[in-house]
Amino acid sequence: MIKIYKDWNFPDTQYVREATEKRQIVLHHTVSGDSVNGDMSWWLHTTERVATAYVISREGHLHRCFDDKYWAYHLGLTTHHFAKFGLNYRKLDPHAIGIELDSWGALVQHTDGKFYPVTRKDGKVVPNLKCKAVPNIYEYCSNQKYRGFQYYERYTTAQLATLKDLLRHLMDTHHISPNYKSDIWNVTARALTGSEGIFAHASYRQDKSDVHPQVELDNMLKAL
Ligand SMILES: [Zn+2]
Repeated sequence: MIKIYKDWNFPDTQYVREATEKRQIVLHHTVSGDSVNGDMSWWLHTTERVATAYVISREGHLHRCFDDKYWAYHLGLTTHHFAKFGLNYRKLDPHAIGIELDSWGALVQHTDGKFYPVTRKDGKVVPNLKCKAVPNIYEYCSNQKYRGFQYYERYTTAQLATLKDLLRHLMDTHHISPNYKSDIWNVTARALTGSEGIFAHASYRQDKSDVHPQVELDNMLKAL
């Protein structure tokens, strides 16, 4: 059983109210601060049907945006993402359940020694000093950066515990096998061909770094 902290009941202009067979579960992070309300109001003010069915806050609270039998756009795929693998475009969003973890994602260190979310200026990645410094850091080895970044916000223990319960529930409800392989941390044809399993957004797109392979997350996925 999963415990839904808040059901947002998105209006049906924000997702596609068409029940589809689900084959994949895709993990994202929001690149945002400590306010699920902020994520939601941003999504709700757009006219596009871009959303994920669930968002998990840093405290581990599970927010549901819409019933997971329906779908919305969250992969952002175009023909060129497929062409690199010699594949034709296929519409994967209707068959993929999206889950967002609230997190800043990639961080860079400022001269004050603290870590800030990244922003791009003149093509360069610089610390976004408009945001508060992020205290909860996950560090990769300098020779094993993930998608070009050495530092990320660490997904919390509470977040990963809620995610595990949610994944078990969704696997059960939609009869999805996790089919874990470490290739999910790279772009993989398994993701792009719509193979059954649990994937990261980064499994589909080289320009994405969500979710990052924090060891606790990787171990949890392996053990499902
Ligand atoms: Zn994403």
